[in-house]
Amino acid sequence: MRAYLKQPLVISTLVAMFCGLITLAQPLDQGYWNTRYRFGQKPAPQSVVLVTMDAGVNASDREVARVLNAVAAQHPQHIYLDRKTYTASPELQGTIDRLGPKLSLVARFAKLDRFDEGSIALPPERVVPQSRLVVSGFVSNFLGYGVSSVVEAQLGGKTYPSLAAAIANRSGGPGDTVRPDFTVDPQTVRMVSSDVLLSGAGSQGALTGRTVIVKEPRSGFSDLVGYFAHRRVDPVFLDIALIEALREGPPIDIDWFVPIVLCTVMIFMTQQVRSRRLRRMAYAVIAFNILIGPALLDQVGVVSNPAAAIVELASFAGIRVWTKWRQAVLQTSRSGLPNFLTLTQTPLPPQHDVIVAVIGRYEEFLATLPADLHGECARQIARRFAVGCGARDICHGEGGLFAWIEPTRPLDQQIENLEGLRALFAAPLLVGQHVFDTNVHFGLERNHEFDGLTRVNTAVASATEALKRGRTVELFEAQRLANAAWELSLLTRIDEGMRNGDIWLAYQPQWDYREGRISGAEALIRWNDPVRGPIRPDEFILQAEQAGRIDALTYWVLDQAITATERFNALGPTFQVSINLSAQLVDKPSLISSVAEIVRRRGIDCRLLTVEVTETAGMCNRPAAIRNLQALRSMGFRLSIDDFGTGEASLSYLAELPSDELKLDRRFVSKIVHHERERHIVASTINLAHALRQIVVAEGVEDLSTFELLRQLGCDVGQGYHIAKPEPLELLLSRYATMAEPGTARAQKR
Ligand code: C2E
Ligand code: MG
Ligand code: MG
Repeated sequence: MRAYLKQPLVISTLVAMFCGLITLAQPLDQGYWNTRYRFGQKPAPQSVVLVTMDAGVNASDREVARVLNAVAAQHPQHIYLDRKTYTASPELQGTIDRLGPKLSLVARFAKLDRFDEGSIALPPERVVPQSRLVVSGFVSNFLGYGVSSVVEAQLGGKTYPSLAAAIANRSGGPGDTVRPDFTVDPQTVRMVSSDVLLSGAGSQGALTGRTVIVKEPRSGFSDLVGYFAHRRVDPVFLDIALIEALREGPPIDIDWFVPIVLCTVMIFMTQQVRSRRLRRMAYAVIAFNILIGPALLDQVGVVSNPAAAIVELASFAGIRVWTKWRQAVLQTSRSGLPNFLTLTQTPLPPQHDVIVAVIGRYEEFLATLPADLHGECARQIARRFAVGCGARDICHGEGGLFAWIEPTRPLDQQIENLEGLRALFAAPLLVGQHVFDTNVHFGLERNHEFDGLTRVNTAVASATEALKRGRTVELFEAQRLANAAWELSLLTRIDEGMRNGDIWLAYQPQWDYREGRISGAEALIRWNDPVRGPIRPDEFILQAEQAGRIDALTYWVLDQAITATERFNALGPTFQVSINLSAQLVDKPSLISSVAEIVRRRGIDCRLLTVEVTETAGMCNRPAAIRNLQALRSMGFRLSIDDFGTGEASLSYLAELPSDELKLDRRFVSKIVHHERERHIVASTINLAHALRQIVVAEGVEDLSTFELLRQLGCDVGQGYHIAKPEPLELLLSRYATMAEPGTARAQKR
């Protein structure tokens, strides 16, 4: 029943009925009829002539008597005297008596809509016999426009005809009302002024055989009444329009109710039409009928008020458009399933988890399916989820994403459930003739304090992560949201950090065994974020790489390192500074031009700079990388293979790269004292490097015995905490001149 009440047609009919009942749509009706009667107006009946009293409202009885006599002299068919009040002065009384049944007096109801004794002042019996009295009064709409009039009035047990009914010679039943014929143009009513009449100039015979209404002018707001398409007029014009209506016969008044019924029936029938085009045409016909119909019916004497039906049609169309729009927005186009926005439309119920499932290789499978089966495929998957988890509404995002909510359970139980749900997908999907082996991954979100949209989005991120990592379920930790926000503003933060000194370079000295001195240093980036504290370089460098910001960072490092090189070399013998080049950047076409630009600007001797490269999977275009490195080398840079022995293809790198130096990874170096295997690896790598005319730098020299053993193995350069930790440039510069061999008496004293 409730669902039925939500039907657009039911709602719009109820709205229209409500508007009709409490006359809420009257302004619309008013507008409608005002517009309608601007067109197709006809002249007023010429058998009625108005004689207006030029003496004004306060015309004396003598004046009135003179005018009446002048009118009577022209032998009209009948005279009506329309005054506000009637007194029985001898002058006027004489005329009234003399004219006898040729003269009637008009008494008007003072208030619109009130037709009782209290609102009318009838002339006393001694002025005129009651049989010679007629009345006039109008029912008005909310703007004071006369919309109908009584045909006769019952006052004090007597029946008085209305002015119009008397002129038209019609009678009506008690309480009958008639709508004036508003097509009568009040401006065409024949009028003669009393002055003209009394002077006799040109008015001879104008009244002969006609019905004459002698009236005082009216001008006060309350004395006038609204006339459709003509603002406020003297009520006598409405009387004349009423005469015409009475002559045409009593109209059928269907008011607002019948139009609503007709509109409802027409909409209902149109809804049954299957063809969309025909349906549209039918709606257009309904609209046309509702707008033009009442005007046409009015022509044939059927009075209606179309506003409520217009309200019905407009609200029906509005509800339809709105539901269609909602459907389009809230449903996935192909599957017809609700989409993810549905989940965020209303607040999520408390203590519910958001679960997003992603179907692996879904897009690939769709590519092999005919387009008309795409929706079926999604619906089948949704059914399987619904069966497995018991959720009623499974939402479908674009791609292979599905989402629903479930009451929160203990985590292990929830994960177990999802594992079970995954097992449901072990059986392949059969869509049409196509078989689809699926695997499904879940993102689980249970941060109830977040808003719906954030929860759905983060569950999607977790599901995607689970798919990427090949896990069944990925739980979204609240901390990750904070991290995500931080990561998303990384670019700005890096720029800011480089500007304000939060990002800086530490220099770790390198000991040259052959020369017995510090012969260089590696520039290592540092970031002290005011909020997060120190951030490890390998952490933010990876993020910078992913965010495409690594180039700016690397060029900044190069520029800083050049300054350091200049300062070290100003202090003594040749000093090498090494910088690390990200694998992401090595194969970029712009690398060489950017580096060349910096080198040219700074005027540095590139032979003092070493570029360390690591072999990682991040490098996409190997030949381009090799070309770039060769170009760097021909500019004068020394090349070093960093972390040798840990990359994916260190040896082939060694073979292909025109390198000068090989850096042994600390994972081997730190074990050479106690582990024979690592010692052999390091020893033979040193020999290999020497055979290829490379010098060897050992990383991670943490103690004296390692330091000494490396010397014995023929290592050329050592770097590690035993020699010195990475430190700020100024500190290292100040110590550099006095730095002795680690482990010697001088060094130990320090
Ligand atoms: P890496 O190039 O292999 O740098 C050597 C790392 O070993 C540095 O870590 C250094 O502090 C650390 N280290 C030095 N001696 C010792 C030791 O005796 N024992 C131990 N346990 N560690 C030692 P850090 O500074 O954390 O840098 C890590 C990595 O970040 C670097 O590895 C490098 O790959 C990358 N990185 C640092 N700065 C930059 C840079 O400016 N650009 C790029 N692209 N990468 C950089
Ligand atoms: Mg390095
Ligand atoms: Mg290294």
